[in-house]
Amino acid sequence: MAGTPVNNATPNERKLNFWERLYLPEIFKGLKYSASKMKLPTYAFAYPEEQFYPPDSYRGRPVLVEEEGRPRCVACGLCARSCPPLAISMQAHEVDDDIKEREPEWFEINMLRCIYCGFCEEVCPEEAIVMSKEYDMTFQHRDEAIFDLERLMVPKERLKDRLGFLEAQRNGQFGEKWDHKKSNNIHTLRNRLDYVKGADG
Ligand code: SF4
Ligand code: SF4
Repeated sequence: MAGTPVNNATPNERKLNFWERLYLPEIFKGLKYSASKMKLPTYAFAYPEEQFYPPDSYRGRPVLVEEEGRPRCVACGLCARSCPPLAISMQAHEVDDDIKEREPEWFEINMLRCIYCGFCEEVCPEEAIVMSKEYDMTFQHRDEAIFDLERLMVPKERLKDRLGFLEAQRNGQFGEKWDHKKSNNIHTLRNRLDYVKGADG
């Protein structure tokens, strides 16, 4: 309405007293409250000076398990199919120099898309992709966020914590249906029966 002042008091508005109109006492009250909270224990890390060491159940960036210099992965594509943001892509190829028939020719995870949900780990029939403890990643270009096979492969000896956690938690959950043995873990054998005999020692 033309001519109506912008800051007109409403009928229910309380009138400020002299000290409130000064503002200073309220400012000091606020400072006193903040100072009282400073004595409480803190739960935040002063990162990066203080590092966070995640527990084995932590879902950091997904990595591919490297076994005897090769990926355990048989490029079945299940992880890519189950990945909600479509972060995984790969191309399979046949291999002759290994007990497995297939391996990924290339394998990529776009870490700008990954939401660390762990579905890829959950569905992998080979326990070939697992969630690591790595959480601090920085990129200067979008291309740097696309991790290739070389960057994704981590020797299984360095993933003992997570593989042990999966063995204790997941395999227990599914009982005999998923008793994680190496003989269960090779799905693309030309001659599976020959291999299975000696696989678990
Ligand atoms: S953790 Fe989830 S989002 Fe990330 S690659 Fe695996 S399935 Fe995809
Ligand atoms: S589900 Fe496992 S074996 Fe299949 S492509 Fe993914 S990582 Fe490889």
